[in-house]
Amino acid sequence: MSIERHVRVAILGAGFAGLGMAAQLERHGIPDFLVVERAQEVGGTWRDNTYPGAACDIRSDLYSFSFAPKPDWAFRYGRQPEILEYLRGVAEPLRSRILFGAELLSADWDEDAAVWRLRTARKTFTADLLVSGGGPLIEPTWPDIRGLDSFAGPRFHSARWRHDVDLTGRRVTVIGTGASAIQFVPELQKVAGRLTVFQRTAPWIIPRADAPTSARRRRLFARIPRLQRASRDWVFLMAEARFAGFRVKPIGRVFEAVARRFLRSEVKDPALRAKLTPDFRIGCKRILISSDYYRALTQPNVELVTERIASIEGSTIVGVDGGRREFDVLIAGTGFDATHPPIAPLIHGRGGVSLADRWSPHMGALRGTTVQDFPNLFLLVGPNTALGHNSIIYMIESQLDYVLQALRLMDVAGARTIEPRPEAQAAYNLRLQRELAGAVWSTGGCASYYLDEGGRNTTLWPHRAAAYRAAVRRIDPAEYLLEGASRQRV
Ligand code: NAP
Repeated sequence: MSIERHVRVAILGAGFAGLGMAAQLERHGIPDFLVVERAQEVGGTWRDNTYPGAACDIRSDLYSFSFAPKPDWAFRYGRQPEILEYLRGVAEPLRSRILFGAELLSADWDEDAAVWRLRTARKTFTADLLVSGGGPLIEPTWPDIRGLDSFAGPRFHSARWRHDVDLTGRRVTVIGTGASAIQFVPELQKVAGRLTVFQRTAPWIIPRADAPTSARRRRLFARIPRLQRASRDWVFLMAEARFAGFRVKPIGRVFEAVARRFLRSEVKDPALRAKLTPDFRIGCKRILISSDYYRALTQPNVELVTERIASIEGSTIVGVDGGRREFDVLIAGTGFDATHPPIAPLIHGRGGVSLADRWSPHMGALRGTTVQDFPNLFLLVGPNTALGHNSIIYMIESQLDYVLQALRLMDVAGARTIEPRPEAQAAYNLRLQRELAGAVWSTGGCASYYLDEGGRNTTLWPHRAAAYRAAVRRIDPAEYLLEGASRQRV
């Protein structure tokens, strides 16, 4: 393999995480980095998810980097085009160091040279450090339905929306009722001739108090950044307060009562309401927020089907009880495989072992970021760093700071490599799993993508977001093995 270039830091992915890393390296005077991006544009999940109604279910106050504030969000909850625009703005000064159309083929740790060897669709190069910003919610999951291929008409996943397919007046079938579907179903209802929604599990839904932001607020935030920061802090604290609903059963019950009252006010038909009433504890799956989903389901052109899907026969979807429904277009809102990040099989650490193999049967990392036997590798939005109640951007920023600390630690120690001590990683994960045991995500009576096939929660951080920041605020050298240029442990 002919190496075309060496950089200090290689970053995988130009979504929120990867761009955040690039921006922070730049800000901290470490300009020798290259971002590898498979697409021709930045944005990650906010580039890929263009379905109608795509928006953030976290308040826009929290949905920007603290070091790149955006005072002029148009809505209280950011819409996809505006979030993507924001990310393009963040990427603007970094573009010359983003390699577009460069899908990662492999990243192999070279033990002797102490570098990562990267092969991409465009270039091969080496890097001292590898930072993965390849998020877990990126590769669409299709349901395994008998006869799916017998349907010759248009079918697509919500994360690969086919804008060229005109849905006006068509018979559209949707599979899934998760965070994505509840956003695009109300939009589809407005245009489809007939809309059939297949629901496997009724989600908990609370209303979304969305509204355009006022011109006055935008002006004030632009003029007085401190005011914007105060507002952001307040919204953050409110979001943190909601965490109690996951941990304290009676508070969870209050949330359930609020959601049930909302359902009663929106859906008058008792049969439909019964179908929409969740049978698990709130918080077990991601709590959804929407003010128009329930209403959309009550419209005459919509049918909510709870019968399980048995098969597809051409343009007929067949239920296990024999129900047969014709359709013209099939849309899967069936989510992603969060416990098997698609980047993991491509990264090979010491001894050639892949991250996917290392993570079989369970994902795990030290502080959600570093992995034993994968020196100089940092994972953003790594294992157990996702949240159900607050902004992922806050978690990403906490990790970015942790990575910068690791670089400083290496500099100070004169080390070429850093990796977690096995016992530190094991102890960290033992503690995490102990803290997760008995929590609503495992005992709330649901199946969710938070859990892997062994039933272990390897995706969620079990505490408030601020507790994660505290956990990574100061890197603990005792948790790491540092090796110097002479390959002596320092
Ligand atoms: P999801 O939450 O995983 O929902 C997938 C849906 O498809 C569920 O209703 C699931 O049913 C159903 N499903 C899956 N396989 C099925 C099958 N074989 N047959 C029938 N139904 C099936 O996926 P998503 O809605 O795309 O959301 C994924 C995540 O993306 C969210 O949790 C969130 O983290 C993120 N997201 C964020 C936002 C935001 O505003 N920030 C917006 C959209 C998405 P079960 O419930 O029975 O499994």
